[in-house]
Amino acid sequence: MKLLKINVEDILKETGASKGFCVDITLKDINWQGEPLQFRTPIKVEGNITNTGNILLLNVAIRGSVTLQCVLCLEQYEHNLDFSFEARLARASSDISNMDVDAFSLEGNEFNLLDIIWEFLLLEIPIRKTCQENCKGICPECGTNLNKQTCKCKNSVEDDPDLTLDERLQLLKDHFSKQGKEV
Ligand SMILES: [Zn+2]
Ligand SMILES: [Zn+2]
Repeated sequence: MKLLKINVEDILKETGASKGFCVDITLKDINWQGEPLQFRTPIKVEGNITNTGNILLLNVAIRGSVTLQCVLCLEQYEHNLDFSFEARLARASSDISNMDVDAFSLEGNEFNLLDIIWEFLLLEIPIRKTCQENCKGICPECGTNLNKQTCKCKNSVEDDPDLTLDERLQLLKDHFSKQGKEV
């Protein structure tokens, strides 16, 4: 979905007029700052637009979730989205002194709600994405997800300075062959 046009013709002429809307929208998956954002379920968008005279005031509440990838264990996890925002809408004006630089633009009698949602939604994406506060990550030696199981590397590899590189590699190979993977 790229466009979600909302027509405001019915409230443009009367100061104080308002209208509400409620839609479920399916956002497309994107890569954001090198990491995937996936939307497996539609997000719920509830909003209200009021004509304040000079501008239109938009209030929106968003509920849903986005699937992120944990930077520590690389597993995918659901991050809840539950936030609201306020935005102003105005027609682009050729008169600079009259222009509301923070306002989103109204084109004719409509605007694209999706652009505005994306702008605020991306602010809600955590910078450091971790599946849980105490994610143990993956073992750097054997790749085991340490949230799900423990591995033997801690004692046998890391803490044993006598192991040679070859022996460490052998341990790694043993581990993967147990899992049925080629190294
Ligand atoms: Zn994790
Ligand atoms: Zn390990």
